[in-house]
Amino acid sequence: MNVTHLECSNCGAVHDHDRIQTVCSSCGSTLLVRYDLEQVRELLSRSDVWKREGTLWRYSEVLPVEKKNIITLGEGYTPIFQLKKLENVSLWLKEESLNPTGTFKARGMAVAVSRARELGITDLVVPSAGNAGAALSFYCARGGMRAHVFMPEDTPAVIMRECHAAGADVHCVAGTIAEAGVKAREEGMKHSWFNMATLQEPYRLEGKKTMGYEIAEQFHWELPDVILYPTGGGTGLIGIWKAFEELEDLGWISGNRPRMVSVQSTGCAPVVKAFREGKKTAEPWENPRTIAAGLNVPHPFADTLILRVIEKSRGSAVSVTDEEILTAIRELARHEGVYACPEGAATYAAYQNLAASGFIDRDETALVINTGSGLMYPY
Ligand SMILES: *Cc1c(COP(=O)(O)O)cnc(C)c1O
Ligand SMILES: [Zn+2]
Repeated sequence: MNVTHLECSNCGAVHDHDRIQTVCSSCGSTLLVRYDLEQVRELLSRSDVWKREGTLWRYSEVLPVEKKNIITLGEGYTPIFQLKKLENVSLWLKEESLNPTGTFKARGMAVAVSRARELGITDLVVPSAGNAGAALSFYCARGGMRAHVFMPEDTPAVIMRECHAAGADVHCVAGTIAEAGVKAREEGMKHSWFNMATLQEPYRLEGKKTMGYEIAEQFHWELPDVILYPTGGGTGLIGIWKAFEELEDLGWISGNRPRMVSVQSTGCAPVVKAFREGKKTAEPWENPRTIAAGLNVPHPFADTLILRVIEKSRGSAVSVTDEEILTAIRELARHEGVYACPEGAATYAAYQNLAASGFIDRDETALVINTGSGLMYPY
């Protein structure tokens, strides 16, 4: 393994990666996995990667799990293809619905569950708007571990059935992911379950960052100008950016990085509000409400990291209405043959708004991410 240590994203404190860790022991912020990239550079060149298996484990030198301990269902290495209907623009879509359990949550859970088992953990708990719970349930089933899932009671029945099918211990909680988070933490402490809440352990981020490696590889190491990312907890946005930093250190990419755009729903847009007001942290969003369950995160734990990526990349944060999301779902289905989840469709709606406003030029290449399948949603 090429991991050297865990580093606090806020105060820089170094933590031992060979021990079970949650957040920074001095300031409580997210811990980031650091690698000996000099060593990786010698072990691997970017032209070695193309002949490897079509899963996210093709980048195993920059992942925190030993090969023999990997729990996999074939996640990652999802297609990117160009959208055609909006004329004369270079708009591409990464199709994450092809992941096991139908969403990109599989990426984070594949890596984090593998690493948890490697560290000797047997019971994992997560608060989830649905998709993270499903992914945790199936990777735990595969790895012979126990999953405990706390979901808002309005989570679609199909996702609850999914978790039950995989033998998870499922709990419904009144309220949003925020209330589910409190409950998951309390019960987790009581029973010594390890908490997999978004960005409160170091390894789900490592799984999600592989999207950044794939984007670079699939665009032949020339990154797009703009990436639109549907932001709930922000793991994917932060992860993709982390990948770009690592890729630059590896010497695999150079030049301008994409402008990163956080897309939220007008019914729950704490990151957009903070970005507009020039703040470094987000305030909790009151009365969050949107059909895009993955975006219904009223107070993202890693708000400062999300805002830092947007700022560093000279990106933006924008919100779209649920009506715009529903229109985008229909357009993607009818014109492009893509059955997007509302979160993914939100990025397509946001692209159209940003192209109209001039933030994205016609001659720029943009990528939207469809983070999951439309099949899980009850409308
Ligand atoms: C969780 C989720 C999101 C938000 O992802 P983050 O990386 O936590 O911001 C977006 N779309 C879907 C389908 C999700 O399940
Ligand atoms: Zn710290």
